[in-house]
Amino acid sequence: MSVATSAATTTAASAAADESGCTPLPVLGRDVTVPLVTGGEVTYAALDYAASAPALQRVWDDVAAYAPYYGSVHRGAGYLSQLSTDLFENARRTVEEFLDCRADDQLVFTRSTTDSLNLLAAALPADCQVFVFETEHHASLLPWRDARVTYLNAPRTPGEAVTTLERALADREPSPSSQLRSSRGGPNGPALVCVTGASNVTGELWPVKELAAAAHAHGARIVLDAAQLAPHHPLSVRELDVDWVAFSGHKLYAPFGSGVLAGRADWLQEAEPYLAGGGASKAVARRTDGGVDVEWHTTAARHEAGSPNVIGAYSIASACKALTEAGFDSLVARERQLIDLVRDGFAEVPEVKVLSLFGDDAPRVGVLSFVVEGWNSSHFAAALSAEYGIGVRDGLFCAHPLVRTLLGSDPQEQGECGAPEGAPGEKSLNAIRVSFGAGT
Ligand code: PLP
Repeated sequence: MSVATSAATTTAASAAADESGCTPLPVLGRDVTVPLVTGGEVTYAALDYAASAPALQRVWDDVAAYAPYYGSVHRGAGYLSQLSTDLFENARRTVEEFLDCRADDQLVFTRSTTDSLNLLAAALPADCQVFVFETEHHASLLPWRDARVTYLNAPRTPGEAVTTLERALADREPSPSSQLRSSRGGPNGPALVCVTGASNVTGELWPVKELAAAAHAHGARIVLDAAQLAPHHPLSVRELDVDWVAFSGHKLYAPFGSGVLAGRADWLQEAEPYLAGGGASKAVARRTDGGVDVEWHTTAARHEAGSPNVIGAYSIASACKALTEAGFDSLVARERQLIDLVRDGFAEVPEVKVLSLFGDDAPRVGVLSFVVEGWNSSHFAAALSAEYGIGVRDGLFCAHPLVRTLLGSDPQEQGECGAPEGAPGEKSLNAIRVSFGAGT
């Protein structure tokens, strides 16, 4: 496609390799100045990449180059529809390559990680038992509530995560319907494990490959929540041997509104379409009894009803290409450098406590949460923004049970995301998160 090629060439020409030989990844909008309450203004340091990463300059360039050719996909023989369809389907191939999918995997474009995991939850076979650690982000903790769910306690080491899962799978309840004891689900029927690749709270990496091996050894399947892993770390579905992977475009340097679910086709194609409508249906006819017969697609289109977000898919593919071309090495090294800098600084301040599930030396991506003794975390974050122009996240990070465990409070307690805590000096009820990425 000439559109994509011309944008890619312009960007590649303008991006020079750094001294390590790696191509830097410029992002847009990191030179915003903000007023300070103390007077004057400062270039804003937006350090909340874990919430949303700024889109890459390359992504905006590619979208701008495509904009004049904008058309709806899968909508007939018209030139613009054909062009957009090609770009949409090529985007699918690019993302499949980025994820190193297996040849028979299917990749569905969704709205976000949350949407992807809800789609998989809607596609679970009957009587599927789901295993999920209480430490998950709510997007991976909550979609399974209509299934039989086993919530696993927070492990304190990666090894304990694996043994906890193994024990739970070994104690699996028998499937209520004996006819579901199929080879796909082992003797106890189908089962699914849902696990994060990198925590959005601690940044710690989870032992995904070992958890996948444990799941498979017990006849279960596994879905990887890669919302925080994909933007910071190379990811291979094949090598990790996960059955599905989900991530969001807006955390991977593409704009909001698009996400991905990729993996095994069978559960997806045996399920009812996630949304009913045009695009998902191959043939529709009135029946003589007055009803309607529908033949649904058996490709990814089955779960992409309606006019798909072609710009979203195209943007994700553009970001994947940029990350692949630049390589993760310099990004990982830079994030490591910044995390070490923050940790070294914090080590000088006894009031600061870094939150960690697996211990201080656990490998992590560029995400770190902490509390400051004697400070209300929300007030602290507000002061960082208003007085210093540093943007961080405060709250419970949509992972309430995990943050409560890390803060030493009751993981079963209820409270709103970002609820204010007590007076300075009292135990923290929420935390502060700093996160890095390209452009920091
Ligand atoms: N999973 C993790 C680990 C996350 O950090 C997030 C968002 O913060 C999500 C899932 C949900 O992503 P989205 O809001 O894009 O659906």
